[in-house]
Amino acid sequence: MFSYRHAFHAGNHADVLKHTVLIAMLRHLTQKEAALTVLDTHAGAGLYRLDSEFADTSGEAAEGIQRLLQASDGEALAPALQDYLELVASFNAKGSSRVYPGSPFIIQRLLREHDRLKLYELHPTDAKTLEANVAQLDAGRQVAVLREDGFGCVNKFLPPPSRRALLLCDPSYEIKSDYARVVTMATEALKRFATGTYAVWYPIIPRPEAHDLPRKLKTLATKAGKPWLHATLTVKSSKITSDPTGEAKRPGLPASGMFVINPPHTLKGALQPALPQLVKRLGQDRNAAFTLDSGG
Ligand code: SAM
Repeated sequence: MFSYRHAFHAGNHADVLKHTVLIAMLRHLTQKEAALTVLDTHAGAGLYRLDSEFADTSGEAAEGIQRLLQASDGEALAPALQDYLELVASFNAKGSSRVYPGSPFIIQRLLREHDRLKLYELHPTDAKTLEANVAQLDAGRQVAVLREDGFGCVNKFLPPPSRRALLLCDPSYEIKSDYARVVTMATEALKRFATGTYAVWYPIIPRPEAHDLPRKLKTLATKAGKPWLHATLTVKSSKITSDPTGEAKRPGLPASGMFVINPPHTLKGALQPALPQLVKRLGQDRNAAFTLDSGG
């Protein structure tokens, strides 16, 4: 456990999808005056340097947000993508893209003073960095960092006092049991607070647990009589190829998905024009594609 560090992956195509969906949800959820509680079950370090040693090693942002920033084929970007890029840009000096905000900072930027944000992070180094980053915000009671198991947040914080909540569940899936824990947590969350918005990110990789996860979440939502939305983005083939020396070349993460139970009714409309543009701009081969389904 704990070999995963999000700094290697910050700003990659999975972050682009996840954070675009996150921002679109928050834009809607912060329109009503009543306080919103946001639970970020796997928060990471909060802020990342794209020119750091970590980011340089894998260069994943180069195939994610950087491609979106560079693309200029004359076609205007969908409002949800513009919103995403503008929010990331607001963490940077004009014209630079050194800093990438993780989910904690993206969420906090969009909250009102009376909203609440609970950030869970277990990695000792990342939790420390997150605490230090959050301290700079001077956000007082608005933001709390918990060095605890994020899957435990449901019993602690649901239902929230104002009866409005968004939960983002973004595990590293380093341990196979994370897939089952996501489903158990979503089941429990719906039981305790049926009207919360529950968003789960997952990798699309050739592994049965990953394949089954959205299917299980869909069954859960359908049985509970709750609406759901499922968006996926594939940027390349998942096939293992070989380099000229015959050495196996793993493709890296080829695709990912976001499954949302009780999505804001505006989310599908926001993603419809955005996803084809992500395919066009982030796609690396002819396998690039998106899906956008909803039900309930
Ligand atoms: N949500 C972040 C973002 O979008 O910027 C990225 C999170 S990263 C994919 C997953 C994080 O979860 C890692 O930093 C890892 O250390 C942490 N983690 C792993 N297991 C955890 C657990 N059970 N509870 C809380 N954090 C955990």
